[in-house]
Amino acid sequence: MSSQYDGCLIWVGTTCGILLNSTIRSEPRKNFTIAHELGHYLFDSPPISVVTKDNLLKVDSHLLESHQKVEQRANRFAVELLMPTPIFQTDVNISTRIGLAAIDRLADKYSTSFTSTAIRYARLNQQACAVVMTQNQQIQHFAYSDPFRQDKSCFLKQGRHIEINLSDSNSSTEMQTVPLSLWCETGSERKIQEQSRPLSGNRILTLLWLPDGSQS
Ligand SMILES: [Zn+2]
Repeated sequence: MSSQYDGCLIWVGTTCGILLNSTIRSEPRKNFTIAHELGHYLFDSPPISVVTKDNLLKVDSHLLESHQKVEQRANRFAVELLMPTPIFQTDVNISTRIGLAAIDRLADKYSTSFTSTAIRYARLNQQACAVVMTQNQQIQHFAYSDPFRQDKSCFLKQGRHIEINLSDSNSSTEMQTVPLSLWCETGSERKIQEQSRPLSGNRILTLLWLPDGSQS
């Protein structure tokens, strides 16, 4: 199909199929779309109708909220299907070498996008690390590991102003040491490792990592 949507679930009687937008070229995006629609198939029967942007404006806030929940559940299902926790977690923690290159290798292996792999990588990591998405020098989103969350000095905040120096605008920076207070709301003088990569839409993805030795 060709539309503004990446894909949809279509029912003919009791038979169900997945339509994929024919303009999608990226394999990770195709995989994610199919996995997302499988999530709808498993959780959202009887089938939900396709909601167009115009329809969405007409529904009340309660329906809108439940629509968002349905979409979030399908997304969570897709992530778990494509990067199953026990398998992915083993792959993440088999190597102690933290970095964007490790995320690239996993994205390649699982055929998932760099960003969704990075988020999963941070969440399932046994070391204190986080991935942060900034846009126009402001923190937009982040995800972190349990050790990062449990560290009292590591408090990330949406909207925080961050200036990242990208030496070469097309590729990742080297891992470098910066003050933790650059990223986190903290009075601590500890240091943190950061590595950044520019993405489309003026966005930058940064991996933050507190090596074991830096705990205080
Ligand atoms: Zn959906």
